[in-house]
Amino acid sequence: MQSFGCRATQADGAALDRQLAAQGLNPANSALEADLVVLNTCTVTAAADQDARASIRRIHRENPDAKIMVTGCYAQRAPQEIAALPGVTWVVGNSHKHRVAEIAAQAQFRNQYPSEEYAAAQGEVQPVSQQNFVSLETVSLSAPAITLVGDIFAHTELIAAPVFAGDTIGEKTRPNLKVQDGCDNRCSFCIIPSVRSQSRSMALERVIEEANALVAAGYREIVLSGINLGRWGRDFQPQQRFEQLVRALLEHTDIEKIRISSVEPMDWTDELIALVAGSPRIAKHAHVPLQSGSDCILRRMHRKYRPWHYAEKIRKIHEAMPDAAIGADVMVGFPGESDDLFEESRSFIEHLPFTYLHVFTYSSRPGTPSAAMPDQVPVHVARERNRVLRELVAEKNRAFRQSFVGQSLEVITLQAGGDGWTEALSDNYLQVKIAGQHDPNMMMRVGIADLEEDGVLGIVQQ
Ligand code: SF4
Repeated sequence: MQSFGCRATQADGAALDRQLAAQGLNPANSALEADLVVLNTCTVTAAADQDARASIRRIHRENPDAKIMVTGCYAQRAPQEIAALPGVTWVVGNSHKHRVAEIAAQAQFRNQYPSEEYAAAQGEVQPVSQQNFVSLETVSLSAPAITLVGDIFAHTELIAAPVFAGDTIGEKTRPNLKVQDGCDNRCSFCIIPSVRSQSRSMALERVIEEANALVAAGYREIVLSGINLGRWGRDFQPQQRFEQLVRALLEHTDIEKIRISSVEPMDWTDELIALVAGSPRIAKHAHVPLQSGSDCILRRMHRKYRPWHYAEKIRKIHEAMPDAAIGADVMVGFPGESDDLFEESRSFIEHLPFTYLHVFTYSSRPGTPSAAMPDQVPVHVARERNRVLRELVAEKNRAFRQSFVGQSLEVITLQAGGDGWTEALSDNYLQVKIAGQHDPNMMMRVGIADLEEDGVLGIVQQ
């Protein structure tokens, strides 16, 4: 199993691993030794599609006998593109992702494959049942691949399992717990709603159960994630709110640290800000997607706020938590982004207390409204703008790190950094290099001695 892309796709991959194991399919050491390779793809940029195609070609070249199943967002968006690639046996869209393990088990243990009738009748997302499967011989191998891709909006499943940072059991830290999937927004550049369906949430009881299982397994920090996390609970009858989920985790679990991965600006309510600021068990870290600081561009992106709404939220977060990490996703090169509009965005960002940014260059996605917009920005211009914003925020980040020299911070240890150092992450999202070898998953307080590459140097305080 190889998963590409975002936390949500990684969490899907972890769930598929669980389901495949439950069907008796055990992980191979590498794709080269596998009978079956499952690629769980991303399609958020053109580069993501290219990565998936390159992996398919490499696996087929290096292990031609392996059956390749391609699932995930790219499979949902462009199944025919993938089906045409040599070596691909199945293309299974997100519409059928929850059936991947069954389909794989049928093939592995019973040499049975979805019949063409079954594959063709996939609009209604029929459940997998025996009569839909036939032996491989009867499947026309001339067909590029068997595709199972249905109407994504008929898809209501939420598959997820915790994803861990670090490879070995001992090194695993900070599990990412996906509690929400899909999105009801329609940002004009975004392909996600059309490949992940409408917003849907993991039931509160299951979230508490998963979190308590992670606590019992010794994890100290969990990262809550989703596609539009702040919308958790809005699909329930009666509706629930994200703040309720966070409160329930504080009340019904002993998790020492909850980190909230990313929440859209308008979901940073005064209540959520107060909850995060008021609880030492919630990391002082706010990731608030911005995309652009230009009002004209935000309107063309169909974003649900104006720059001044956004600025108001960031100011409230900063006032409530002056030492918190505040980050954002920002896009450059959106169609129609003239030099003046870019400068408007750059200046807006300059005047806000960001401590880091994820800067993306616009990538046109087939089928999105922005793909058809005029005034597409040349790539070299977009790349230059990307560089300008990275430089701007590098200065902000440096000043933020410098402000903690001489102070102490709470950190969680991640892994041995080699030659007598340990890597750690602070509550407010600073990379900390600690003198001495320490086990992963330790919570400790360190004195900040100096800046260090992109992080800071920490000395353990007894
Ligand atoms: S909020 Fe917008 S950018 Fe984010 S997943 Fe939804 S549509 Fe895409």
